[in-house]
Amino acid sequence: MPHPPSSEPRLPSKFGSAERDIVALGIATAAIIMFVGTGGSVMPDIVRRLGGMSSGPDPMLTNALLLNIALIIFGWRRYRELTVEVAERRRAEQQARLLAETDPLTGCLNRRSTSAATEALIAECHARGESIAFLILDLDNFKQINDLNGHLAGDTVLQTVAARVRGEMPERALLARLGGDEFACVVPFARGRSDRIDQLAASIIERVNAPIEWEAATLDVTVSIGLTRSEPGDTACEADAEALLHMADIAMYNSKKRGRNRYHWFESAMENELRFRSELESGIRHGVARGEFIPYYEQQIDLRTGLLVGFEMLARWQSPQLGLIGPDIFIPVAEEIGVIAELSESVIAQALVDARAWDASLTLSVNISPLQLRDPWFAQKMLRLLVEAGFPPQRFEIEITESCLHENIGVVRSLITSLKNQGIKISLDDFGTGYSSLAQLRTLPFDRIKIDRSFVSSLPANHDSATIVQAITALGEGLGLPITAEGIENPEILEELRKLGSFKGQGYLYGYPEDAAHTRRKLAELQLLAKVDDPAMSAPAATVAGTLAATRKQA
Ligand code: C2E
Ligand code: MG
Ligand code: MG
Repeated sequence: MPHPPSSEPRLPSKFGSAERDIVALGIATAAIIMFVGTGGSVMPDIVRRLGGMSSGPDPMLTNALLLNIALIIFGWRRYRELTVEVAERRRAEQQARLLAETDPLTGCLNRRSTSAATEALIAECHARGESIAFLILDLDNFKQINDLNGHLAGDTVLQTVAARVRGEMPERALLARLGGDEFACVVPFARGRSDRIDQLAASIIERVNAPIEWEAATLDVTVSIGLTRSEPGDTACEADAEALLHMADIAMYNSKKRGRNRYHWFESAMENELRFRSELESGIRHGVARGEFIPYYEQQIDLRTGLLVGFEMLARWQSPQLGLIGPDIFIPVAEEIGVIAELSESVIAQALVDARAWDASLTLSVNISPLQLRDPWFAQKMLRLLVEAGFPPQRFEIEITESCLHENIGVVRSLITSLKNQGIKISLDDFGTGYSSLAQLRTLPFDRIKIDRSFVSSLPANHDSATIVQAITALGEGLGLPITAEGIENPEILEELRKLGSFKGQGYLYGYPEDAAHTRRKLAELQLLAKVDDPAMSAPAATVAGTLAATRKQA
């Protein structure tokens, strides 16, 4: 009986077919018994009839024999159908299991089936006295490959990497794709021979690194690996699959942090580091809301006259748990967790209020993160802060680092222009460290260049630094840009600098950055606090208020 065409795997109805099978089997058995009985008397009659010795078999018996034959054929066909059905059912079941347990793209085990398979392998290996290594592999630049070359290229990379890693796997090892560009390997090894796993990780890295051809392009992939192991009998290491995955994941994260394209074994210190990092993140989040970030001020001096001309605001975190923390620790984390703008605006707002009390001759410089420049409302926000504090924009300076120039240069240019249109000054911070091109320098309307402190503080000792400072000075003169030298740590540096040109300067020679209260006390001693009826304070603020109202209307 032909089967109707169907796109779905045909799983025969269990009951119907079982009943039919029993009936068919009964009929076929009865038919065979009857065939033997009737055939025994009919067949000799037929033979005799052929020899002309009889008139032939009884027609009734002949009909019964023919019926028997038909029934036997029916039974045989039913048996054939049954065999086909069983084979199909087995294939469908296998396919369903395969879909449930493996990743269709790479053929590796999928995340769901990894735990059970790992635990079974751990139990088997430990029973034999063997150890188990758990490896997590994460591709380093997969997102970029996907974004630049499309998802088909990404799929090819995943398939190629899976095949390459599979090629390195010893017998009985498991290979799973945990999701995205993350793979796991579970590898049995002889106790005490973890060097074999080091070799395995190194050769996986080497094989994955080989270029992958994709259409006309060559794709370069690297992989970071985290390793951990489970030893038989050692209760500390006899971890379950989830715990092994967790440890290998931390080790993999560590490999990424240490430069990618490498492997690391899990160590408990890594877990502490990760915990510290997550405490830092939540501390920063709460600290922003609780106003724990405060401005410190570093003096800026006119090196020619030796007079104080302003301050650079440097943010500090007064953490209740960790004490006073510098920006090198919290700025990158705040950028990563997306609170940098809020943090920055809160310290700038405080600084503007503090600076209101300073003499009208003093300027305030603030640093901003490249991420803030991506905000189309950034100029508006700065303007609003100025208005709210009643601080004149002409005394306000924004420092942007060279890394900002690697962002979308058109956006940066229009932002700088709109800030400058409000009277705010813009300086290029840490110049010399970020490879910004001369062409870019010329097209962006900076007001000042700040030479990075690494060149300045090494001036007396390093001849190359003197050459660089000289070159930057010539560049500044050529472009008509005044220069600030950072990192003046001692009188020798100051002496060297004076020989090279005329600068504004800052550094520990003039004192460490100090909080608002100390700064105010120092200014009081120097008689550089604002006069109460200083007209310079109100007029520009009114101008800013007018501009802000106008821009709001435009928006
Ligand atoms: P920067 O803008 O180049 O700031 C100068 C840094 O040099 C400050 O470090 C300052 O304390 C240090 N410094 C000053 N004089 C000397 C010296 O004579 N010798 C040496 N070796 N160092 C000196 P700090 O306060 O740790 O700030 C580090 C960086 O953090 C700053 O570099 C700035 O890029 C960034 N930063 C500070 N505050 C903020 C902020 O509010 N927002 C953003 N986005 N970045 C900030
Ligand atoms: Mg700066
Ligand atoms: Mg700097």
